[in-house]
Amino acid sequence: MQYTHEHLEIQKTLRRFIDEEINPHVDEWEAAEQFPAHQVFRKLAALGLLGLNKPEVYGGSGLDYSYAMAMAEALGHVSCGGVPMAIGVQTDMCTPALARFGSDALRREFLVPAIAGETVGCIGVSEPGAGSDVAGLKSHARKDGGDYVITGQKMWITNSLQADWMCMLVNTSDGPVHRNKSLVLVPMNTPGITKAKKIRKIGMHSSDTGLIYFDEVRVPQRYRVGEEGQGFVYQMQQFQEERLWCAASSLLPMDECIADTIEWAQQRKLFGGTLADQQWVQFKLAELKTEVEALRALTYRACELYVQGQDVTELASMAKLKTGRLTREVADTCLQFWGGMGFTWENRVSRLYRDGRLGSIGGGADEVMLGILAKTMGIAKRPARE
Ligand SMILES: Cc1cc2nc3c(=O)[nH]c(=O)nc-3n(C[C@H](O)[C@H](O)[C@H](O)COP(=O)(O)OP(=O)(O)OC[C@H]3O[C@@H](n4cnc5c(N)ncnc54)[C@H](O)[C@@H]3O)c2cc1C
Repeated sequence: MQYTHEHLEIQKTLRRFIDEEINPHVDEWEAAEQFPAHQVFRKLAALGLLGLNKPEVYGGSGLDYSYAMAMAEALGHVSCGGVPMAIGVQTDMCTPALARFGSDALRREFLVPAIAGETVGCIGVSEPGAGSDVAGLKSHARKDGGDYVITGQKMWITNSLQADWMCMLVNTSDGPVHRNKSLVLVPMNTPGITKAKKIRKIGMHSSDTGLIYFDEVRVPQRYRVGEEGQGFVYQMQQFQEERLWCAASSLLPMDECIADTIEWAQQRKLFGGTLADQQWVQFKLAELKTEVEALRALTYRACELYVQGQDVTELASMAKLKTGRLTREVADTCLQFWGGMGFTWENRVSRLYRDGRLGSIGGGADEVMLGILAKTMGIAKRPARE
């Protein structure tokens, strides 16, 4: 895949926005453990950046997925992980299924304001008792007249303390675990919802992460995305874009971490020369840069096939796995070369070390990616549970 002039122009616009409107505030937002999502999203929407690959009829630009990927990559220019992740939730995690399978009325009610930056969305899959084991989630919705009445808990939900609505994966029947779930859009001001806790984390500080309780929360059944019982399937498809987004948005932070470390190593004097004179340092940084370029190539290839309409479960899972592992390796190796300075809080490399650790856990842990690959490669059996 090659970026065209149009892709590069979008990236230029976004980078300018990041330099002017995001990076100057990152330290303050990290300290506050929250960023003003509504304010930032409204400005991104004014630049047309919240619906690049969403249909024009709902306010999007109707472009193909490669433009969303170009945006995800440029978001890596933000000097922390939390703000890009929150933006990615809005563009690539809580809206793809709605855009693809939602009814026209649902898209007008939820997608149009999300693309316009008037509302903030979140994606509610994980629960206290079920993260990797998505099929095992326990939140349930019973039917009452034309409504669903939802009871349960969602945990680790990015944006949820500020969100206006949640795209929630919930059991809507007692059937087999892969066929009893639906995606339901739940306005976060519905009676019965408690924002129980803001979770303190070791990284991604500017992103709010919530534990949310649902007690007899009533929403109309027309808030269901697509067909009843198809939620697990829709969410697995939605995960493809989430995982490609994770890979694309990890590339620049790693590039910039390596570049900052080279600059540091060239200045840092030791043993009668500089740190950069040590061949070990040169070779390690050269090797890391090579690995990042290999991940970029894999991510672009997955994107190209996805744009062609192919199922990229295998490549997206490989890219997500590699992203988590490589981000940890790059951040850890570079932090080591910064010595004591790498162990300080303000250092950008130490921020990547903390923020980047999530890459091997969130959106499907490394072992979940390996499990998917073992199945697509035909090594592992399909699960016995239906
Ligand atoms: C900052 C943050 C933001 C998040 N945002 C969201 C969000 O917006 N929406 C949402 O729904 N979720 C979100 N999550 C949840 C995230 O997706 C889950 O944490 C993740 O899927 C892992 O689930 P778990 O924490 O329940 O760990 P568990 O499922 O308990 O797994 C624990 C560990 O077990 C290992 N493991 C898992 N499966 C296997 C296996 N098959 N074989 C071997 N080992 C295995 C892995 O190492 C894994 O890390 C977020 C999490 C964090 C920390």
